[in-house]
Amino acid sequence: MNENITKASTHLSLNEGLIFEKSSPGKKAYKLPPLDVPEIDEKALLGDLARADLANMPEVSEIEIVRHFTRLSTWNYAVDYGMYPLGSCTMKYNARINEVVARLDGLAGAHPYQPEKLSQGALRIMKALADQLVEITGMDSITLQPAAGAHGEMTGILLVRSYLESQGNPRKKILIPDSAHGTNPATAAICGYQVENLKSNAQGMVDVPSLVAQMNEDVAALMLTNPNTLGVFEQEIHKIAEILHAKGGQLYMDGANMNALVGKTRPGDFGVDVMHLNLHKTFSTPHGGGGPGSGPVAIKKHLEPFLPKPVVVENADGTLRLDYDRPKSIGRVRMYFGNFGMHVRALAYIMANGPDGLRLTTEDAVLNANYIRKKLAGIYELPYATPSMHEVVFSDRIQARKGVKTGDIAKRLIDYGFHPYTTSFPLIVPGALMIEPTESESKEELDLFIEAMKAVAEEAENTPDVIAGAPHRTRVSRMDETAAARKPVLRWKPKAK
Ligand SMILES: *Cc1c(COP(=O)(O)O)cnc(C)c1O
Repeated sequence: MNENITKASTHLSLNEGLIFEKSSPGKKAYKLPPLDVPEIDEKALLGDLARADLANMPEVSEIEIVRHFTRLSTWNYAVDYGMYPLGSCTMKYNARINEVVARLDGLAGAHPYQPEKLSQGALRIMKALADQLVEITGMDSITLQPAAGAHGEMTGILLVRSYLESQGNPRKKILIPDSAHGTNPATAAICGYQVENLKSNAQGMVDVPSLVAQMNEDVAALMLTNPNTLGVFEQEIHKIAEILHAKGGQLYMDGANMNALVGKTRPGDFGVDVMHLNLHKTFSTPHGGGGPGSGPVAIKKHLEPFLPKPVVVENADGTLRLDYDRPKSIGRVRMYFGNFGMHVRALAYIMANGPDGLRLTTEDAVLNANYIRKKLAGIYELPYATPSMHEVVFSDRIQARKGVKTGDIAKRLIDYGFHPYTTSFPLIVPGALMIEPTESESKEELDLFIEAMKAVAEEAENTPDVIAGAPHRTRVSRMDETAAARKPVLRWKPKAK
């Protein structure tokens, strides 16, 4: 092919250079009016603080800037681009209606110091969301303050600690299954508890005899994810709750996986005392770069006095106010009232779907995960025979015989146009491939993903070297991930001419 044609056709390739490399002297993306004030000598004014390195700023035109950043934006794989099967993360579609509602002037422009009288609409939204989440979880009350799942865990365990302290003894330990998300032991430790590991049985559930043996009056709580990180529902959850309660312990549920339960079953009905939700997973508010998170904590009645303050309460005349007079409160965990914009989006999502829609969402999420499970069974090893809920965990055992590991398969998937699944987690599955399609994906998209996974498995068998060097289509291929994290190069230096 003619070299120039090749260049033109790579406009949208993944090989976008640095903006500094596009610089040519004198180009500008702006035009200022003539200077009508005396020019300042920055050296005289700022002395040593005057920055000489600004002389190396890139000089480009407006269209070059627009194209550069538009191309870069296509590198940032997003759920608006294609399937994002990152297990445990519930990368579902963030419906546009959420954004429309959150941008309404009265909401987007509301100030947290606005008097209560002028904030009735915002308070009504927080109250409505709280009521809906209480209904969905079957709990008694909730705080919307925490800013993420891990922050919700910390809030929840602080509630447990305050409650147990009020009973005379905060206790020493928290039990955590070996399938748990890493934030669970981190939370226990930061709240001053020792972590004790609880093992799973052959079905991938909590081993109840071990729990009975380990449960005593030193245990403050069990932190349990349900369905757990293997995508398996803890079928003995009732019994687990009873074992804890009999010895005065609390059952904390990590509710990050509520996408498998909403509209089908309620943690409040199976013995959970305290749990967090991830609005940015289950309730379709943006993750990470797309916006701040939100991790409300739902509780049973006995933990209510300890909730973070303020709490939205209803006056006798039906208006709402913020109650700060809560002597037993653990205090604030977040400035103002939490990430209010996320509350608006989550409520929009819940109301747009309604009870039937939310139930269907759960059913579709579980169906999609099991469709992938069925189609890839035998091609990738299934370490547990227990049926999947909203996500499916395979292992790389078959491919590892040829030296191809879960991380290699994930990198090769990038060449096929998909975001990788979650690699090497949960830790109890060596070489885990954790896949969560969510309800957002159509059968057509799932089939494309399955075809890609099959193709990679075939390559692992016949041409393992291709996978070892993947990804091949990206600007940067395999990085030294440790060096990239420890010694990042953040400053561009002009090449010596
Ligand atoms: C995502 C997740 C968390 C942590 O939530 P963040 O909002 O990322 O802090 C905790 N537990 C499980 C099981 C999760 O999937």
